[in-house]
Amino acid sequence: MPNPSLPRQTGKRQSGEERRHNYEEVAQGCNLEEAMQEAERCLNCKDAPCTKACPVNVQIPEFIQLLKEGKIGESASKIMETSLLPAICGRVCPQETHCEGNCVLHKGGKFPAVAVGLLERFVADEARKQDKLIAPKPEKESGFKVAMIGSGPSSLSCAAELRKLGHKVVVFEALHDFGGVLRYGIPSFRLPREIIKAEVDTISDMGVEITPDILVGSSITLDELREEYDAVYIGSGAGLPTMPNIPGENLVGVYSANEFLTRVNLMQAYRFPEVDTPVHVGKNVVVLGGGNSAMDAARCAMRLGRESVTIVYRRGKDGLPAREEEIENAEEEGIKFQFLTVPKEIVADEDGKVAILKCLKTELGEPDASGRRRPQVIEGSGFDIKTDSIIIALGQSPNPIITNTNPDLKTNKWGAVELNEAGETSLKGVYAGGDITRGGATVLLAMKDGIEAAEKMHKYLETKGAK
Ligand code: FAD
Repeated sequence: MPNPSLPRQTGKRQSGEERRHNYEEVAQGCNLEEAMQEAERCLNCKDAPCTKACPVNVQIPEFIQLLKEGKIGESASKIMETSLLPAICGRVCPQETHCEGNCVLHKGGKFPAVAVGLLERFVADEARKQDKLIAPKPEKESGFKVAMIGSGPSSLSCAAELRKLGHKVVVFEALHDFGGVLRYGIPSFRLPREIIKAEVDTISDMGVEITPDILVGSSITLDELREEYDAVYIGSGAGLPTMPNIPGENLVGVYSANEFLTRVNLMQAYRFPEVDTPVHVGKNVVVLGGGNSAMDAARCAMRLGRESVTIVYRRGKDGLPAREEEIENAEEEGIKFQFLTVPKEIVADEDGKVAILKCLKTELGEPDASGRRRPQVIEGSGFDIKTDSIIIALGQSPNPIITNTNPDLKTNKWGAVELNEAGETSLKGVYAGGDITRGGATVLLAMKDGIEAAEKMHKYLETKGAK
């Protein structure tokens, strides 16, 4: 019999003081005994609101039931029927708004939700350790060839689904390593590199070819890909930083979060001098923004040994868009928050380097289109923050290179690629999804787009007849 009154397992975690000096994983997962105890809390609901709330429909009660029966390999295979990135999703997905947020226990208010994320990562990690993680293989080859642009979660999910259906899939990635934001944006203390590599390897083992260092739109054009491949998926993400448009934003010492995180995570600046790709950050760092990028940038800056790191955000704490867990983590690591504040100007010292961030206080007014109360500047509320590095994490918009080099590819006013009702772009046989169409979302939504596009691409290929 399930027992929801058992204490919810949270797994091992490094303390705030310990982890602010290292890049080891913060949340270190649970052991078999703890996982089994947590699994006992699941009521195995017939209508599974957790699964319904999961954008990629992971069969949650089913995989937990298999875990309870000690069938680790089968449990992992159950998850992988709909998601090929279980160890990643278990670590970075916002479970509080999807599966766990809709768990019957949580909704009932008497017990905390089943720790689905913790169990998902446990099953994926354990199955891999026990060599029981089996990459699905196609039954037969279709003879069709498809190309994916970018190796983020959206393209990888699309690639895996199309490969299962027997199509030859080639992924073209601009960077020298794979995973998109998972690799260059999210730090290893949240998502260890070996986890990303292992899940990308599973997709390679299915027969998907993943090629680094190819910038589509420059090394090869979209038209060339369309000539060579039967269909193309654009999953090139949203890597273009949004700037605040204030005086001084181009001064020495101002980074976009993208640049800063890429230097730290992809180029491993935190290992300098062991690696020869350092990043210069001053003693007192200010991060502008309140999303996951802001938390990641602040926490990386802290780990580089800064004296103070302050997040400046225009709304209050309850308006922060970052995952709850990451906000708590940032606080525990000593990150300071300056709420209800907007930047006005960045002022340089005599050497032309960042010295002062001039700010204004805000108050919350009427709700805006998103339903959130709009921050309004309070006139005459100006004050200064002394700083020597500023990291701008105010959001991202779609990468423009492919759309700029293909004027026939329709985009909306924010530069996101537009899709028609059939889920196709304005170019025949070219599909798109993830952040390039949404302009910045989540790993799960990017995966969902990739999986749904694969179904549409498969139907499109079928209309071309057998090869
Ligand atoms: P991306 O992950 O951006 O991948 C796109 C890939 O395409 C990149 O590898 C890029 O190099 C490549 N590319 C671009 N242009 C070209 C080209 N012309 N030719 C070839 N390759 C190209 N979401 C969560 O759910 N949880 C989190 O905790 C979370 N944290 C985040 C932290 C940060 C710092 C950021 C920036 C985002 C975070 N997100 C998080 C959001 C999430 O990571 C993204 O929504 C998701 O990665 C989008 O996936 P994608 O495949 O569409 O694009």
